[in-house]
Amino acid sequence: MTDSDVVRLEHVWVSYNGTSALEDINLRVAEHDFLGIIGPNGGGKSTLLKVILGLIQPDKGMVTVLGNPPVKSRCSVGYVPQTSHFSLDFPVSVWDVVLMGRYGRTGLLKRYGRPDKDAAQKALMRVGMLDHAGAQIGDLSGGQQQRAFIARALVGEPRLLLLDEPTASVDSAMQTEFYELLANLKKEMSIIMVSHDIGAVSVFVDKIACLNVQLYYHGSKEITPEILEATYKCPVQLIAHGDIPHRVLREH
Ligand code: ADP
Ligand code: MG
Repeated sequence: MTDSDVVRLEHVWVSYNGTSALEDINLRVAEHDFLGIIGPNGGGKSTLLKVILGLIQPDKGMVTVLGNPPVKSRCSVGYVPQTSHFSLDFPVSVWDVVLMGRYGRTGLLKRYGRPDKDAAQKALMRVGMLDHAGAQIGDLSGGQQQRAFIARALVGEPRLLLLDEPTASVDSAMQTEFYELLANLKKEMSIIMVSHDIGAVSVFVDKIACLNVQLYYHGSKEITPEILEATYKCPVQLIAHGDIPHRVLREH
């Protein structure tokens, strides 16, 4: 293993009730990699992120995050789950949501101190949401809520950011802004973003993998039509006339 491996999975297998969700996954993510993982619904994308977080223990295989078992590195990992668990009516401010991201550092019962508040302010500033700190989370647009949840993930000053289907709640007008934010963040941390939406991954990531129980990854941004077809288990033409950026597909 090299020192720059932020994530390393070797021959990782996960099953639920005897059915494989991940088979023999091998993956290495280096510092400042921005990896996009695409694959159909049910392909195991959320499961893979949970393995990296240490929330799911693989049946077989080895996982290290920043050179340690995932649970030990969790403080250095920011996670934006697939769907936020906030009811829109739940009365909680953006500021409180972001501070919750400090739990890993303060522990549940400790009070927030100056460093926590400074970190929250910095995180909100980075996502351009400081002006909304006092707003109720339920009053925000989908894109603004997404920014608040990213701020919550950033407030622990992570070295790795995991984003599960982050564009689902961002309307298309906000997507460019969202990717600009990620482009800035990747200067400071590694990012893994998973999505069923091929277009969402598009030109912004540096590397692309395809996941459908098995992972197809060659450490580059190149996906062949064969790999896409194997991942989505349907003729690639069906997918390819959509909004796949052409530079993702290798000429052949
Ligand atoms: P994706 O995020 O790509 O949609 P998931 O990782 O959520 O895929 O799920 C992969 C497979 O594992 C699916 O078939 C799903 O039904 C199954 N699965 C996920 N979580 C559980 C669970 N907690 N219990 C049983 N099956 C699960
Ligand atoms: Mg998922």
